[in-house]
Amino acid sequence: MKTAFFSSRSYDEEFFDRFNTGHELKYFPFPLNGGTAPLTDGFRAVCVFVNDQLDRQTLAALSSRGVEFVVLRCAGFNNVDLQAAADHRIRVARVPGYSPHAVAEHAVALILTLNRKTHKAYNRIREQNFSIERLTGFDLYGKTVGVIGTGQIGSVFSKIMLGFGCRVLAFDIRKDDGLSAAGITYTGLDELFAESDIISLHCPLTPETRHLFSAASLGRMKRGAMLINTSRGAVLDTGEVIRALKTGHLGYLGIDVYEQESALFFRDLSEEIIQDDMIARLMSFPNVLITSHQGFFTREALEQIAKTTLGNLTAFERENACPNEVPLPVRLTGHAG
Ligand code: NAD
Repeated sequence: MKTAFFSSRSYDEEFFDRFNTGHELKYFPFPLNGGTAPLTDGFRAVCVFVNDQLDRQTLAALSSRGVEFVVLRCAGFNNVDLQAAADHRIRVARVPGYSPHAVAEHAVALILTLNRKTHKAYNRIREQNFSIERLTGFDLYGKTVGVIGTGQIGSVFSKIMLGFGCRVLAFDIRKDDGLSAAGITYTGLDELFAESDIISLHCPLTPETRHLFSAASLGRMKRGAMLINTSRGAVLDTGEVIRALKTGHLGYLGIDVYEQESALFFRDLSEEIIQDDMIARLMSFPNVLITSHQGFFTREALEQIAKTTLGNLTAFERENACPNEVPLPVRLTGHAG
């Protein structure tokens, strides 16, 4: 199927070209949004990633140019206005759970780096500074880890933390009995906030989870606790997180996602003046570690993403049922514009 592939990077092209056996992919290195949607003339599908903007305006522009399908190269679909997709009869598919290990292991990497300060030790040794002053960490063994969202990624993460000898508390709107049997304890959010030394987020961004970490919830966390976010940036209210870091109430922050990441992540801006004062402030804290949405970024995950996305395109092209199709809300007649 003729597909416009947005936000393309060299690694996308390498893996998609390796597994593509018949779709016509046109790679665009820039994101899809209202401004770039006119480039989709003559394409039946668009292939997009986490920071492409599929709002009502973009979907209307795609529909008017004949686009029928959106295939996401990611699990989350919070960047798609599903009601608008339904109204324009555009079908949407995603790649659920392509490598929960990749993201869960990255969350652990953030914890270990923040705790044991290996990034600082690396720089010190390169400067022939062999002092270990101020590199003190803490044992993970025996600490309480709170996990919000125990789906594919959260369950892998929970089991890894059990392996460290941590006590794992979890909150999810759906409990997983298998995880309870494995030794994790489901609790309410209040208890999780109050008791956790580390909290790691693995829930999707939804209206319920947007700014779940506000002034009130951050205030309920233990003083000096660590917060890890590899889910979606807007689960944190970034301004409030910065305030909590400034007072010292929040002890450590590790983020792979950021509320305003679409203007920054996946680009080399090393020669630019950063206009985003929030990320600039976050970058200035010694107890904050930021990675640029690379939790998914392993060879295994890239292979799975390419294979599944191409399979989704094939299913749509053949008008077969697509197992990874995102259910759309009921179409609102007369609201397609
Ligand atoms: P999943 O659907 O398997 O699991 C999500 C879990 O969150 C489910 O168990 C669900 O019941 C739970 N949940 C939903 N609403 C909740 C709420 N209000 N409170 C608590 N729990 C809630 O998804 P997954 O594959 O585990 O991915 C989780 C998230 O990780 C994705 O939505 C995405 O935002 C993010 N992600 C990040 C990267 C990355 O590279 N950093 C890669 C993939 C996914």
